[in-house]
Amino acid sequence: MTASRERPESADAGEVDRRAALAEALAAVRARVADAARAAGRDPAEVGLLAVTKTWPASDVALLCDLGLDAFGENKEQEGAAKAAELAALRPDAAARWRVVGRLQRNKARSLVRWSHAVDSVDSARLVDALEAAAAKAVDAGERSDPLEVLIQVSVDADPGRGGAPVADVPDLADRVAACDHLHLGGVMAVAPQDVEPAEAFATVWEVAEGVRAAHPRASALSAGMSGDLEAAIAHGSTCVRVGTALLGRR
Ligand SMILES: *Cc1c(COP(=O)(O)O)cnc(C)c1O
Repeated sequence: MTASRERPESADAGEVDRRAALAEALAAVRARVADAARAAGRDPAEVGLLAVTKTWPASDVALLCDLGLDAFGENKEQEGAAKAAELAALRPDAAARWRVVGRLQRNKARSLVRWSHAVDSVDSARLVDALEAAAAKAVDAGERSDPLEVLIQVSVDADPGRGGAPVADVPDLADRVAACDHLHLGGVMAVAPQDVEPAEAFATVWEVAEGVRAAHPRASALSAGMSGDLEAAIAHGSTCVRVGTALLGRR
């Protein structure tokens, strides 16, 4: 109170500027998504937007909520847990849902299921089992009621450093998730490897996603495309682009 009375203009001006910058960036990203969808003969409404807010403060997430976004991604469990709690205090009525998009250690599963709606980066049977056990405990403890949504992260080049399951392992992992009582198989996610043409990588990912859908018709999500390559991903069937830099700026 006192502080804002002492410096009302600078404090408010900063937030007004940030809100305007985010609104402009969001409009530009939505236009890119719509153009890419139309160019591919798709309905822009088929492509969701996940704002990847890693390294940015909860105040930015609150402004993005005000601008109509409701899906936010974090790549670190601890940072996401803290930000989700801050957002709940800043915007108690916001219908925000959080997704973890980064590599996850199994010992973080129990904390994650308290605040996250989904994990997009599941790439091993051991992680599936840890998430199922954690989600079951969270339901028993009354900490969540809905199943944890899971996407299988596909590694196009099978480089173990970047995360993701090799293409050949995806069907078994999808079956394993689908058999879990407290997990919901949503589909697949991928990050295009740096040394492969994005279009080529996303074409492979689309085939993998089609295979998963054939076995599990409700697992229709294909999360692909980031600030630099969302057009190529949308051309190859992406149903969700994960955008950080183009919305919030350079990290
Ligand atoms: C950081 C991150 C993004 C967003 O990347 P930008 O290039 O900043 O849009 C998307 N997906 C994952 C898995 C990420 O870690």
